[in-house]
Amino acid sequence: MALVRIRPLVDMHVHLREPGGEHKETIASGTAAAKAGGFGAVACMPNTTPPLDTSERVRFVIGRARETALVSVYPIACITVGQRGEALTDFAALKAAGAVALSDDGYPVADEGVMRAALIKAAEAGLPIISHCEPETQIAERDMRLAGETGTSVHIAHVSLRSTVEAIARAKLRGVSVTAETCPHYFTEGASGKMNPPLAGSEDIWAVRRALSDGTIDAIATDHAPHTRAEKAALPAPNGVIGLETAVAAALTALYHTGTLGLDRLFALMRENPAKILRIPLPEGEIEIDTDKIWTLDEEKLLSKSRNTPFPGMTFKGRVFPLLQENAAIATL
Ligand SMILES: [Zn+2]
Repeated sequence: MALVRIRPLVDMHVHLREPGGEHKETIASGTAAAKAGGFGAVACMPNTTPPLDTSERVRFVIGRARETALVSVYPIACITVGQRGEALTDFAALKAAGAVALSDDGYPVADEGVMRAALIKAAEAGLPIISHCEPETQIAERDMRLAGETGTSVHIAHVSLRSTVEAIARAKLRGVSVTAETCPHYFTEGASGKMNPPLAGSEDIWAVRRALSDGTIDAIATDHAPHTRAEKAALPAPNGVIGLETAVAAALTALYHTGTLGLDRLFALMRENPAKILRIPLPEGEIEIDTDKIWTLDEEKLLSKSRNTPFPGMTFKGRVFPLLQENAAIATL
């Protein structure tokens, strides 16, 4: 069967660039891209300008989302003040303002003592910690050890390496409370671009695919990270690729049509699992997916303000069609 109707998806890791980076993306343009990509909810990272390290700034994002967003927006707040890896932010106040998780994404929390204190305080506040691990395997191993020692949980962002997959599998076997995500560019052959962590080798792609299948990795997130063409042409170019409008197509092409995952598992990785990790409700509504639609990406037609896709000109098998509310009513008659 080619046509499937499901509820909208959840992306637990995007960069909407507002405030401070509105030339790259806004909450309005980023959520338009999210909606076109089949997502009904996104969680946005706090490395804006200024960063989301106070309750006032978290409330600003929620207010802008209320005015301009086309899908639900859940802010993630900083672990440390200014993402400097030193003083912890006020987790309870950030949660009260509406933050759903904590992360210094873009930077690792380098100091082990700071991360240990953050894990304990985040557990007390009831907020998940999302760890940007750099160097990836080394910091992931450290944070999983800390979670084990302190009886807390940690979520590992954007896993790209076989060695990290193996470390997560070992930690899960030991009973550590750890979840992990990867991104479409880490399981798709032929992806391109400069991002952090960088694209790895084909053995890493296969390890990530296996980890999505066997439960070592729990979620697919895009790490949608818009940058303008001029910024990407500069030296050194900033890290990041966009992904909201291609995630479903890439996942169907690289995971479903290769026989790696069935549709139920695939959509659990893009909906139920990220919602559960962030403790947010599943979005309402309906999307339609044509699993067999063959199409070629024209990046000029993307709704994101930026064009830094890892899949320029790529041909996919599988496409999502977001249903308007009124169409949904007609189509389900
Ligand atoms: Zn990151």
